[in-house]
Order: sequence, then C-alpha cells, then structure tokens
Amino acid sequence: MKLYNTMTKRKEEFVPVEEGKVKMYVCGPTVYNFIHIGNARPMIVFDTVRRYFEYKGYDVNYVSNFTDVDDKIIKKANEEGVSPEEISTRYIAECKKDMEGMNIKPATTHPLATQEIDGMLDMIGTLIEKGYAYEKNGTVYFRTRRFEQYGKLSHKNLDDLRSGNRTLLVSGQDEKEDPLDFVLWKPKKEGEPAWDSPWSDGRPGWHIECSVMSKKYLGEQIDIHAGGEDLVFPHHENEIAQSEACNGKEFAKYWMHNAFLNIDNRKMSKSLGNFRTVREISEQYDLQVLRFFMLSAHYRSPLNFSADLMEASKSALERIVNAADNLKYLMNNAKADAMSNEERESVAKTAEFVTAFENAMEDDFNTADAIAAVFDLVKFSNTTATSEGSKEYAGALYEILVKLTDVLGIIVEKKEEMLDADIEALIEERQAERKAKNFARADEIRDELLAKGIVLLDTREGVKWKKA
Ligand code: AMP
Ligand code: ZN
Repeated sequence: MKLYNTMTKRKEEFVPVEEGKVKMYVCGPTVYNFIHIGNARPMIVFDTVRRYFEYKGYDVNYVSNFTDVDDKIIKKANEEGVSPEEISTRYIAECKKDMEGMNIKPATTHPLATQEIDGMLDMIGTLIEKGYAYEKNGTVYFRTRRFEQYGKLSHKNLDDLRSGNRTLLVSGQDEKEDPLDFVLWKPKKEGEPAWDSPWSDGRPGWHIECSVMSKKYLGEQIDIHAGGEDLVFPHHENEIAQSEACNGKEFAKYWMHNAFLNIDNRKMSKSLGNFRTVREISEQYDLQVLRFFMLSAHYRSPLNFSADLMEASKSALERIVNAADNLKYLMNNAKADAMSNEERESVAKTAEFVTAFENAMEDDFNTADAIAAVFDLVKFSNTTATSEGSKEYAGALYEILVKLTDVLGIIVEKKEEMLDADIEALIEERQAERKAKNFARADEIRDELLAKGIVLLDTREGVKWKKA
C-alpha cells in the first residue's frame, strides 16, 4: 500500500511501526460553532483511510481531538454570556451528530484538550529542562533554533520566514528570542479559563495539545498524523518540534494532508464567511451525498463545492443504492435458489472489480478510481442479475457491493420511508414537549426526524416539514 508522505514529498510503501497495527492521529476541529463542510473533508477522507486499513485486517487505533479551549470559544462564550465549557460541550455534541450523519466512525478516542492539562504541564516542564523551551513573564515559548530539524515537514526557507514574514509574529513578540518561537503556555487574561502551572495561571497553546494527546493515547511514535493542508505549517511543524525534542524519537512516520474544499474557487473558511455548515447541507441532502461528493475527488486535489456536483453525486449514489435494492429484491424473489455453474463463473469475474478497487485504494487512496470500480460492479450486476437467475447469485453480488461501499462509508440500504402520519405524530409530540419547556426532548425529536431525512421548518403558520 502506497501513501503520499508530506515529509518526503513522495508516495511511500506503508510499513507499520507495529505489525498488524495502525496508530493514527487526526487533528480535530475547534468547537465554537457547527462544523462546515470544509472541516468535514478531513473527517470523511481519513475515516475512509481508516476503513481501508480495517478492510485489510489492520487493527486501527484512531485518535482525533476536539480543541475545547481557544480564543474563539472564549469570544463566543462572552457573546452569549455563558461559560466556554457550555459552548464547547454544545458544539462537540452537534459535531458528533453531523459525523453520524456522514457515517464517520467515532474515533477510538476523542480526547478533549481541557482534560489533558496535566500531560501538557509535564511535556512543557520536560522541554524547559532539556533547554528546548523558556519562560518569560509567565509565558513559555518553544526555542525553535534549538531544534535543528525545525522546518523539515513544511520545507520552508526559515531564514526568509524569520526575516521577511513579520505577520507570523504573535502578540508578546518582543519577549521572544526568535520570531519563529511559539507559545506553549500563556498567562490568563481577565475572564478567561485558567489552570495552575509553575509559570502562571493560564492555558496551553494550541500545538502542545496534539503532541500530548497523541503521546498519551498512541505512544511516542505513531504511524500516521493527518489533517488539512493548512495545518502543515505551523501546526504540524510545531508538533514535530515539541514531540521529537521531548521524546527523542521520530514522531510520526507518515504525514497525510487533504487539500482544501473551495467554494467559487476560493477556500471555504469561517474567517472568510463563505462556508456552508454540514447541518445546512443535511436539510437539502442526505449526508451520504456529501460523503460521496467528497470521495469523488482525490484527497490531495482541491475540490470545488457546487450545486451541480452535489446533484451529480446524488444521482450517482442513487444508481448504487438502486442496484443494491434490486439485488436485495432478487435475493428473496429470484426464480432459483442455488447458483448455476454459469452464475458461479460470473461471480468469479467480479474479482476483477474488487482488484481494481483495491489497486485504486492502494495507490494513495484514490477514491475516485475506487468509485469507478464500484460502478463497473453496479453495471455488471444490473446486467447479469435477473429474476430468471438465482437468489444465491444476487446474494453473492450484494455481499461484494456492500463490502466495497462499506470501505467508502457509503450505506447502500435504502432509508425506510416514514409514513406521513408518524411524522405528524412526532411533530405534535415535539410541540407538546416545547410547551412543557422540555427542550432537550424536543430537540431529540427534531434530530430523530432529520436522521430520517425529514426537515422541520418553524413558520408563522406553525411547523411545516419537508423531505431533504
Ligand atoms: P479548524 O477547526 O479550523 O482547526 O479545522 C479542523 C480541520 O478542518 C483541520 O484539519 C483543517 O485543516 C480542516 N479544514 C478547515 N477548512 C477546510 C477546507 N475548506 N477544506 C478542507 N479542510 C479544511
Ligand atoms: Zn493538531
């Protein structure tokens, strides 16, 4: 299996640190709002990577954090007049709902930065002891010049960065020994969440979180560290500096980065304000369509979001689901029970599609080509499985189709259609719960309906509903 390593800028053969095991860490979102579909790209891509390793028989330990202490969370909390914890707890729960809708497996562990402060104090302490970090007026900085390999991941010219790019400097720059030094610990400002430390009451910098959580849940050396390409510098570069300076070992063997999801050919981001949330998309489409859309391009190619491409993904997905549905029907209704010899030969021919699928995935997770192989199987199935054939044959093709689509995280089962009367009854129940101020249950009902593709619209004339 070959994967592209940002560190070496080459596709490399995957050799695990420990035989039969994959330890991977994927940087997760900062939780101060609903996630947008740009954030969903790494989630979908690396969940698919994980699923392929599992398909190959590896035992995957998949860790993905939630950054739950951050300036943006504090700002949002102040705006709403609630605690930062309330904000992060709320959006972690919402993010998990979105993940479920996109059929993203929960990580083996989803650590929270605020629960790992002790580990961060330990690592920062070690870095100071070893001369890789220093404290000035309660702030602790990493001493980048001391880590000779600093810059090895991003392949940047550090001298240019040092002298030219003043915008990289963050507040407190005058105290730094070097413009590239970055914060490990910072003292609190009025009204901010803070923890005791030997240096000041304060909170950790962003980069140290991931070094600590990765070490705690996966060990000092891991196989794959991943995230969006914007994280290469400085986030991942800084993680490498911290982890390798502290542990004296290579941190991750392979560094994988997805390209950006763009909209109107500009990067989609919260700061540009041009983003669409996953939740918004779920009101228009089944989130399986979003997943399919993301996988229709190679993960290292930029992908432009458009209504046309979403529509194309919707119909492509329908073709797969219909083929599966047809096979299911034949599994119960085809004429013969057992396969004929001819059908047996026909099943053997599907090995070709499975091989094409695997070859595509082994070539740096080329999901676009893997999907093409699934379509070849769909065409084959549509032409060879008929009611004149056997139940067993339809079942064999169904099994292969499910096995491959499951690697992509695509569910081929048709969603059960809800009866209008059941929908109306649930809406009435929700109204009653709202009247009784039981908002948690009311929200639960809305989510239950959404999961079944029913969107509620609160209008002046009362609650209306539509199918997504
Ligand atoms: P953030 O919450 O901004 O730290 O982002 C969480 C993850 O989403 C990181 O891996 C980012 O690289 C990734 N990400 C953010 N915006 C996009 C985008 N437009 N396309 C692809 N990945 C993105
Ligand atoms: Zn990270």
